[in-house]
Amino acid sequence: MSTEKPKSITGGCNCGGVRYRVDFATDHDWKRAPNTCQCTQCRKMSGSLIFHFHTVKNTEITWLSKSTYAEYNSSADFFRAFCNKCGCSIAWINFGVGTEIELAAGSIDEEFLVGNRDADDKPLGAYGIPLANLEGEHLYVRNEIVGVTDAHTVHGTRFWKGTQNTAQA
Ligand SMILES: [Zn+2]
Ligand SMILES: [Zn+2]
Repeated sequence: MSTEKPKSITGGCNCGGVRYRVDFATDHDWKRAPNTCQCTQCRKMSGSLIFHFHTVKNTEITWLSKSTYAEYNSSADFFRAFCNKCGCSIAWINFGVGTEIELAAGSIDEEFLVGNRDADDKPLGAYGIPLANLEGEHLYVRNEIVGVTDAHTVHGTRFWKGTQNTAQA
């Protein structure tokens, strides 16, 4: 496994209607970028108990296709981007911030998360660690499912709710 950082990645939804490329800036904040959320909205939107994100600046992302791109206004200033055809989650966007978006880490293409495989089909590893390591911020740990999801947030910084709130010791 490598901790080498990618220069660029691609991703999108299952049907291909939404596609993007990220060209990472030289000052990309690799420490802060990978984060998770366990709020109920993220759970329902992702269908997963933990939603993994990777924060990118608006200037780092290029939309290659937005033909099925849609946004759901989930709360004041907050939008959830998804594909209106295949239903994949793409991003969580705070228009109040306006300069960055939280990319759904699972929408990143497999070649960047998993990489090539050996003869036994075992993944050789790609950029999974810099893109989605668990040492960043974990939001809404108040919603942890004891005995299930709490094992994923033992490293990194735990926030009882969002980042506006004080980090939990
Ligand atoms: Zn789609
Ligand atoms: Zn959330």
